Amino acid sequence: MKKAIYPGSFDPVTLGHIDVIERASKLFDHLIIGVLCNSAKTPLFSVEERVKMLREVTKHLPNVEVKSFGGLTVDFARECGANGLVRGLRAVTDFEYELQIAQLNRVIAPEIDTVFLTTNLKYAYLSSSSVKEVAAYGGDISSFVTPCVEEEVHKKLK
Ligand code: ADP
Repeated sequence: MKKAIYPGSFDPVTLGHIDVIERASKLFDHLIIGVLCNSAKTPLFSVEERVKMLREVTKHLPNVEVKSFGGLTVDFARECGANGLVRGLRAVTDFEYELQIAQLNRVIAPEIDTVFLTTNLKYAYLSSSSVKEVAAYGGDISSFVTPCVEEEVHKKLK
């Protein structure tokens, strides 16, 4: 059974993330989305809220599970029994950072392979931080997130 994790902050989950999740769920038998709870960033949503939104937007995907984790990503992958680690790539700027992390992870956990999925060009510009910024200034985020996430963002920013 091919099992992978897709770790990230998902603060909040965007259509770009969902696109990566849908594609990765076809490549692996089981995909576990790992919501990082000890990120250095101060999140808008609590880890429980992020997990809840991710469960809602992935409920149509039977082989996708959502969990939270703290500590090292490779330890989370090992706990899950996964040997794949999925990350999305939007631009060259993502690549430099992601390559370094992937190489580091490979030294710590050689049995786990990082798989990069390049962004769907429709969402190449999209990030959780841009969604929050647009929403904070009263802009329309309906092209960036699902309606349920849009509602949660507006509620949070009120
Ligand atoms: P992190 O804080 O770990 O970067 P994010 O929630 O910002 O967490 O992103 C999780 C993963 O999803 C990262 O690999 C990121 O590059 C990828 N990602 C984010 N937005 C997009 C997008 N629009 N298209 C493809 N991949 C994306």
